[in-house]
Amino acid sequence: MSIAENLKKIKGQLNQQVKLVAVSKTKPNEAIAEAYAAGQRIFGENKAQELRAKAEDLPKDIEWHMIGHLQRNKVKYLIDKVALIHGVDSMRLLAEIDKRAKKIDRVVSVLLQMHIAEEESKFGLDEKELTELFISEEFQSFENIKVCGLMGMATNTDNESQIRKEFKMLKGIFDRCKASFFQNDPHFAELSMGMSNDFQIALEEGATLVRIGSAIFGARAYH
Ligand SMILES: *Cc1c(COP(=O)(O)O)cnc(C)c1O
Repeated sequence: MSIAENLKKIKGQLNQQVKLVAVSKTKPNEAIAEAYAAGQRIFGENKAQELRAKAEDLPKDIEWHMIGHLQRNKVKYLIDKVALIHGVDSMRLLAEIDKRAKKIDRVVSVLLQMHIAEEESKFGLDEKELTELFISEEFQSFENIKVCGLMGMATNTDNESQIRKEFKMLKGIFDRCKASFFQNDPHFAELSMGMSNDFQIALEEGATLVRIGSAIFGARAYH
């Protein structure tokens, strides 16, 4: 199937409020242009320089999302290009984003990444760390960051109940955070979860953003 056909098939499964991030990492500009021609406007990349290069070459009304782990020394490459940074999981990274955003007089939207998978991973916060972050003075001092919600990745497994359990856990954390810290902040509204293999489950568990790559563009040569 073509990129346009894949997009149409996936879009047919999303309700109106859910946003599709077409994950174009490693894919050439031609593939992105094909998705763009089919109406897709949100694209996800996981490398700062690749995002920057593509943003410079492709139409300016594309919304670029950074979905992968972002190193602090790479923030400068994407700060003026990115619409949403999904994978923020430390105060130091938040501080760097705030500092760089201030310099160019922007407010940058971010999602905080939670560790929900069973797999060992260096990335993502647990609920206690997230709460500590939200109540800290440093966090409250950031003026050029807008926290729009949470992001997470389920365990890479065929076990559907395991995946569902992890997405449920993330939704639970989201609801508790919303009630405790963002009750009067309409911006805290996004839950980024679900990829090609598990997005149907993520939708059932409350995802507002799904990040889908291979089901649109085909398999990647590397991850
Ligand atoms: C690559 C990637 C995706 C997309 O994965 P697919 O299985 O190709 O849909 C989603 N989220 C993150 C964080 C990724 O790195």
